[in-house]
Amino acid sequence: MSVSILIPTALRGLTGGQSSVVVEANSAGEALKSLAALHGELAKHLFGENGELRNFVNIYVDDEDIRHGAGLATELTDGASLMIVPSIAGGASELPELSREELARYSRHLILPELGMEGQRKLKNARVLLVGTGGLGAPLGMYLAAAGVGTIGIVDFDTVDSSNLQRQIIHGTKDVGRSKIASAKDRIHDINPHVEVVAYETRLTSANALDIIKDFDVVADGTDNYPTRYLVNDACILLGKPNVYGSIFRFEGQASVFGAPDGPCYRCLYPEPPPPGLVPSCAEGGVLGVLPGIVGTIQATETIKLILGDGEPLVNRLLLFDAWTMRFREVKLRKDPECPMCGTHPTIKALIDYEQFCGIAPAADDADSQEAGEITAVELKRRIDLGQDIQLIDVREPFEFAIARIPNTTLIPLGQIERRAGEIDPKRETVVYCKVGMRSAAAVHRLKEAGFPGRLLNLKGGILAWARDVDPSLPRY
Ligand code: ZN
Repeated sequence: MSVSILIPTALRGLTGGQSSVVVEANSAGEALKSLAALHGELAKHLFGENGELRNFVNIYVDDEDIRHGAGLATELTDGASLMIVPSIAGGASELPELSREELARYSRHLILPELGMEGQRKLKNARVLLVGTGGLGAPLGMYLAAAGVGTIGIVDFDTVDSSNLQRQIIHGTKDVGRSKIASAKDRIHDINPHVEVVAYETRLTSANALDIIKDFDVVADGTDNYPTRYLVNDACILLGKPNVYGSIFRFEGQASVFGAPDGPCYRCLYPEPPPPGLVPSCAEGGVLGVLPGIVGTIQATETIKLILGDGEPLVNRLLLFDAWTMRFREVKLRKDPECPMCGTHPTIKALIDYEQFCGIAPAADDADSQEAGEITAVELKRRIDLGQDIQLIDVREPFEFAIARIPNTTLIPLGQIERRAGEIDPKRETVVYCKVGMRSAAAVHRLKEAGFPGRLLNLKGGILAWARDVDPSLPRY
């Protein structure tokens, strides 16, 4: 039988640097004897004076410890792989030990010279916080758990919706309606029961971010909105934590590492958020389901390298990925000395109101909403039922209109809103809506800028709010 013997880093000096040696053998004992014959020095490390396997050497055949089976008599099949795992003293004494089960589980890591026993123990010792368990958080959570990161914190307040399953692969069909935290925790423990999951079933806010983040070594940002993204950035800079960034939209993704000692932060790259409505969210603009899989996996890779303190991290570099053309590009980033957060004279020394910073009005009750030019779905329905004359304008795209719409609506896609403003009767009260309320807010803003004289209200939460609060029979998308 031809079998390969995987040599751990610690013993490679005795095999001329070879990480794997192929020998002919029918049993584990024969394989080790053949190995010893090829590399005489190694024999002394493996066998005692009477030819017995030394106690501090563990031998695994296809991930099974031979001590639990037939020992050196363990039979080998053709193509089997045999791994030597010696105990290693020193260098990492403060790090947690790995159990036998963990040694077997992480065998493919242990034989990587760049990771080895010490790297795996660093992973076990590490604490990583995932902000969000959506498209990016899903592969992040799953790969970091599989890799053996000892403690994974997750912050999420959402529940699993069937429209999440196209990309948020940490959740399954059976989880629809469950809290994302509970679903993600179950999946992580199924992948790796050795991982401790610390769950924060809450929205990350200026009030709790520092308290939550301070206990972690690395933050992986899987957020989908600007206020949380700036909040995560600022909290990481204030606490001196690295922030592994990823973002996705339609077919394009970005990744970088912010908050490293010599690297920039998110504000160095984007000092200010775009005005609300300019950049649509994934809920409005769509996203290719595998895209967050790729970007989130890149974030997981960067997180692991930061924990190991090795490799070449994405610091001072912004990785740009286009799935549609299948191109990766990279641009240089620089720490901005004038950055208000991480520059030489920072002016922001505490967390701020990020909703306000991003131009998003804080949540308000109905009366305040109308003051702000908004109306809730429930209030709109009430007024329609009262027979009030309300003109409904939908600014989504025709294909969305075909999926679901509120009765008696005129469709004017956002891109045509100024040109077709004449179709809106300024003497009637008008409610503008889209999917979640972002495009319609932009439409109201643009109509006002263009001098539209009538009264315009934006449907808060869009047609999704209408489907949730008024007409559950409407399909959600
Ligand atoms: Zn900065």
